[in-house]
Amino acid sequence: MNNPIFVTRPYLPPLEEFMPYLNKIWDSQILTNSGQFHQQLEQALCEYLGVNHIALFTNGTIALVTALQALRITGEVISTPYSFVATTHALLWNGIKPVFVDVDPHTLNLDPAKIEAAITPKTTAILPVHCYGYPCDVEAIQKIADNYNLKVIYDAAHAFGVKINENSLLNYGDLSVLSFHATKVFNTFEGGAIVCPDAKTKLRIDRLKNFGFVDEVTVVATGINGKMSEFNAAFGLLQLKYADEALSKREKIDTLYRKLLQDVKGISCLGGYGKQSSNYSYFPIMVEADYPLSRNGLYDKLKEKNVFSRRYFYPLISDFPMYKGLASANRSNLPVATDVASKILCLPIYPALTQDEQLFIVDLIKKK
Ligand SMILES: *Cc1c(COP(=O)(O)O)cnc(C)c1O
Repeated sequence: MNNPIFVTRPYLPPLEEFMPYLNKIWDSQILTNSGQFHQQLEQALCEYLGVNHIALFTNGTIALVTALQALRITGEVISTPYSFVATTHALLWNGIKPVFVDVDPHTLNLDPAKIEAAITPKTTAILPVHCYGYPCDVEAIQKIADNYNLKVIYDAAHAFGVKINENSLLNYGDLSVLSFHATKVFNTFEGGAIVCPDAKTKLRIDRLKNFGFVDEVTVVATGINGKMSEFNAAFGLLQLKYADEALSKREKIDTLYRKLLQDVKGISCLGGYGKQSSNYSYFPIMVEADYPLSRNGLYDKLKEKNVFSRRYFYPLISDFPMYKGLASANRSNLPVATDVASKILCLPIYPALTQDEQLFIVDLIKKK
């Protein structure tokens, strides 16, 4: 293989199919502030995902920051160290203290059995992540939230299109936040969204993403500029036409990896929890102690052959300098997450990955 194989590649529809959208933008001269494509994409996503209300954002991080602001979350929030750093950064941007709780060894999501012990009088919410699109134990988390009167905001950046028993995973909790970054299964170059249950909440969120404006002369909150532009929304509409096709290509790649890797000593594949609950957004494997190389050894070996896997998530968020001083960031509080972060490796998966490329990657993993 001469060309580098990256861990992910964006799904790009034929460029000429994007031109009519651009013509419309040029004709209307409306570039942002809830134009036609912005409204159409919100509507189309509600239908595709099976949710009631969506507020589009410029990216997932600003959407997370705004979701916390919209529900007036303060004090302490319980979250996972096993995520992308933006999850916890969103708390600090709101002046909230993160409290890290360990993850479940199978789903790698926040372990509900460990949440209660971390609740204090200052706790106001739980911020779990549907890691790799694998659903959190939403029922158990909701039960705890109800018992202690806490809000639940899901970082659903990986969970586009994932369902539980025909119901969108995004309908659980008080709010769910999506990312449409170029590296995600559905992208708008940069982008994000908040899924919300009712029109009143959406109205508040729409105001917060537009500086807090209610009308031309009234500002009711210290909102931010989180609006998605017409360019990004138009691309999202085009991309959405290919979402099912992209998903089925990913599914084939996932199935083949599982088949080829099933008997490889020291390598275990995560997920495979049933079709209902996967969008095949990542292909995480664990490099166990009985594999001939360490995780970093395998990562380097692949890289030498131009195959770029990703140690996702490593390091843990709790190990970054702005968090490691917290009592809950201590590794003894997070044994499962600490262990997983040292074994995890995400293999390349994206619709254009060929079977030959997959065989090449697996051969490298198998070869002594
Ligand atoms: C990508 C990602 C984000 C941030 O989204 P952006 O759109 O890149 O700002 C947040 N949380 C998780 C888990 C992510 O993977």
